[in-house]
Amino acid sequence: MSDPFFQPVSGFDLPRFAGIPTFMRLPHVGLDHPRLRDVDIGIIGVPWDSGTTNRPGPRHGPRQLRDASTMIRAQHPTLGVRPFEKVSCADLGDVGPNPADIQDSMDRITDFYNAVMNAGILPLTAGGDHLTSLPVLRSVARDGALGMVHFDSHTDLYHSYFDGTMYTHGTPFRRAVEEGLLDPHRVVQIGIRGTQYDSEDMDFAKAVGIRIITIDEFHDRGVADVMEEARDIVGQKPTYVSYDIDFVDPTFAPGTGTPEVGGPNSYQALQVVRGLKGIDIVGADLVEVSPPFDPSGGTAFLGVSIMFELLCQMVPSF
Ligand code: MN
Ligand code: MN
Repeated sequence: MSDPFFQPVSGFDLPRFAGIPTFMRLPHVGLDHPRLRDVDIGIIGVPWDSGTTNRPGPRHGPRQLRDASTMIRAQHPTLGVRPFEKVSCADLGDVGPNPADIQDSMDRITDFYNAVMNAGILPLTAGGDHLTSLPVLRSVARDGALGMVHFDSHTDLYHSYFDGTMYTHGTPFRRAVEEGLLDPHRVVQIGIRGTQYDSEDMDFAKAVGIRIITIDEFHDRGVADVMEEARDIVGQKPTYVSYDIDFVDPTFAPGTGTPEVGGPNSYQALQVVRGLKGIDIVGADLVEVSPPFDPSGGTAFLGVSIMFELLCQMVPSF
């Protein structure tokens, strides 16, 4: 039932530009809060971009996403669901990374998520660059390999960068498959496009059974058909959802480090999440929002709008 403590502050009670901007105006419940175990879905910031190989900035993502998220209201416009009344949601705060040490940061992230998992909370993450997903998966997939629906312009399946560097935002899902965190036969990557270094990532995907739906196929078939296939691929078993904001066309989401033209519009960006309905989502993330490249704030607003869609799909039995 609806718990008053976990209700977001309404714009009817306090104007949206006032107050401390927690995610979606929810209560802040840190890992040491007495009500931690009452949280069903926790929104977590990971202000970390040490895996970025080109234009940085997602370390500033969680703060700008929190600010933009004060625009989010309580009810979904077309689905009608009021997620904050169905489950208890809270802002769990930020993982404190070590911007000078990738391995230490990954350990800190996994430790934080282990505490979240131990409290029985479904995590919804605001990144951070895409390497963030790897230490999160090390915790969320600790009981066995997960399926994954991955929205992105890029596969993030490369072996290494810079002559042997294994941990970048272009390699997280290669590592996740190698570490047994993902079942490649239950992974689908949607929206892949842009000029490529070579075919190494695509060859790896093919070799292990990952399904890639390129942007050409996406536009040819349309959202409903593509998402029906995505649901078939991941099936009814536990599944992670990873959403790189660069999936969306840079007209709508310019505030990101590695934009690629020819992508979905902002409406399709929301529609694909609605297409996740019925999937057993055990965690989700929205990554690669880079505020220094987002002077209008529009990318962050799209980002939190996608996060609200993800949150609605994470509500059990909805
Ligand atoms: Mn990515
Ligand atoms: Mn990308």
